[in-house]
Amino acid sequence: MNILIFGPNGSGKGTQGSIVQKKYGVPHIETGVIFRQNISQKTPLGEKAKVFIDRGELVPDDITVPMILNRLKEDDCKKGWLLDGFPRNLAQAEALYSALEKEKMKLDYVIEIELERDIAKKRIMGRRLCKTDNNHPNNIYIEAIKPADKNGKMICRVCSCEDLTTRADDQDAAAIDKRHNIYYDTKTGTLAAVNFFKKKAKVISVDGSAGVKEVSAALLQKFV
Ligand code: AMP
Repeated sequence: MNILIFGPNGSGKGTQGSIVQKKYGVPHIETGVIFRQNISQKTPLGEKAKVFIDRGELVPDDITVPMILNRLKEDDCKKGWLLDGFPRNLAQAEALYSALEKEKMKLDYVIEIELERDIAKKRIMGRRLCKTDNNHPNNIYIEAIKPADKNGKMICRVCSCEDLTTRADDQDAAAIDKRHNIYYDTKTGTLAAVNFFKKKAKVISVDGSAGVKEVSAALLQKFV
């Protein structure tokens, strides 16, 4: 099973990606993770990519495209793959599509998690981390997981811990906007890539505004 997954930052793409990956037992290939590994291992590819990543820009296609196409040829991808974070623009989508055709590899599904831009931004900025357990979901903008209140102070809705913090990069509105500018660009950006696949492959679009369970149920039900 060969699958692509798309969704803006804040849409829960990572969470849904790992649910799909577990169900189909294929490797979850995340471009960002590959870059970060190369950066921490100080490889030549990592050194090149770091400059762009630190500026919040996309790593150029001549570095990214061959890296991913080579990754898809590795042994663990023989039974399929779930590709996450690539393609990120129309040029990468076209390059991937022609490489797959050349290798006679089929694209089984393309998943699109749809979420309005202002909601995606609020989800990121509203996230609150519980000191006791980072997996306790708290978000000041999502009714279902709003932190609880204790004498006017926000506390974790799961364990009532009083230490709720934010992640620094979650509060960087300019960085979020920069990433969203790339994602929501329907001319040459990520949504242009999604629209390209709508003409070429089976695209499953789900509404990402619901909770994790509802989104994954809607998603998995569309696989045949
Ligand atoms: P991510 O973890 O997916 O947000 O990726 C982190 C960073 O890696 C991005 O901000 C980009 O700089 C770079 N990156 C990830 N995927 C791609 C891609 N498909 N093309 C170019 N750069 C990418």
